[in-house]
Amino acid sequence: MKKFTFLLLLPFVHSAIAQDTSSLFRVEEISRIEKALASDDMKGRGAYTPEIDKAADFIIGEFKAAGLKPFPDMDGFRQTFSQVGTRLISAHGMIDGEPFDEHSIVSFTNYPDVTLTQDSHFNKVYIKNGDNFRQKYNQYRQAEGNFLVVVDTSFSNIFKRLTQNTTQQYKPGSSTVFILSDSDPKEYTINIKKEIREKSLCNIVGVLPGRSAGSQFVIFSAHYDHLGIGKPDSRGDSIYNGANDDASGVTAVITLAKYFATLNNNERSLIFVAFSGEELGILGSTYFSSRFDPATVSAMFNIEMIGTESKWGKNSAYITGFEKTDMGQILQKNLAGSGFQFYPDPYPDQNLFFRSDNASLAKMGVPAHTISTSKMDSEKYYHTAGDEVETLDLPNMTEIIRSIGLSAGTIVSGKDTPSRVK
Ligand SMILES: [Zn+2]
Repeated sequence: MKKFTFLLLLPFVHSAIAQDTSSLFRVEEISRIEKALASDDMKGRGAYTPEIDKAADFIIGEFKAAGLKPFPDMDGFRQTFSQVGTRLISAHGMIDGEPFDEHSIVSFTNYPDVTLTQDSHFNKVYIKNGDNFRQKYNQYRQAEGNFLVVVDTSFSNIFKRLTQNTTQQYKPGSSTVFILSDSDPKEYTINIKKEIREKSLCNIVGVLPGRSAGSQFVIFSAHYDHLGIGKPDSRGDSIYNGANDDASGVTAVITLAKYFATLNNNERSLIFVAFSGEELGILGSTYFSSRFDPATVSAMFNIEMIGTESKWGKNSAYITGFEKTDMGQILQKNLAGSGFQFYPDPYPDQNLFFRSDNASLAKMGVPAHTISTSKMDSEKYYHTAGDEVETLDLPNMTEIIRSIGLSAGTIVSGKDTPSRVK
């Protein structure tokens, strides 16, 4: 019955081709991909581990098998980006003739050894009693140039919670030093020593060039990193397999790549991407998005945790930020009669629209949504070592992936263009 509906909805597809694609949406095939990504051999795909590279190699192999092309200007299918990790070694010196407490200084710098005095090129600015601390703090951290920020002692409690051991995606050339003080420092020498480490991660990106509208992009994405090895649970299992989070989404991206490559009728260019660094704070998608002109992206389907039944049961999923564009309505229209239902995100208080890999492009106006089934109020194995393949409903997941492919049809063909996020 389902296959019959599929053919009715895509009457232009030759039946031989339809058979080819339906072979992709088989539980055995979905299970093969899912099990490879979530196997104990991958050790939870933790960032900076050799095993995440193994996962990357597997995804590249699948992208090649699908017939995807590397994105222009990239090193094969890998999009490598680096972060700078910093750790405080020491902070000492004198302020108006008195040594200061190391805990009264928080510094952000990518230089291993920084000394500032009243004569050095640091702008002295203030966060005064009664100011909006968060707003001023962010303002000075993001500003260009070197700053010494004198923070009133009324903010002592919030100051204690600031951490200066950070990982940043980009390497700013300037330094910002916050100092907690009840007076305005006049003469000072402050020396800060830091350990600086540069580390790299990579997204995996493949393209299916469009036939007539190649400069318009539709993105299908999921993150392939997870939490790696953690604290053993009551069974003594310490591998956080991340079968649902988000091997299920990557399985969908790989399968959809093969599906659209087999159909071979996409007018827009399709980009398939597996992001890294999601669990560290959506690092991979932030970097990926920064390399794009958002105006060229027609839509983004980010897929995150589709391995369990949604709160409405089988054959359903939700779309984050549903009401922000008409993309959800387009997808649902394309599924008419299929028995599959997309719903608006039922957990709006969790702010999922801005927490997942769709967020960077959505902020720039792109209709970029995350599709998920995860019951965020009760998902038993979320971020635990128990998130394993055995807990997934693979037949239902297969139907979800098939439905995403079907729902995307008119966007891939250029017939529909979702409205932008305002
Ligand atoms: Zn995730």
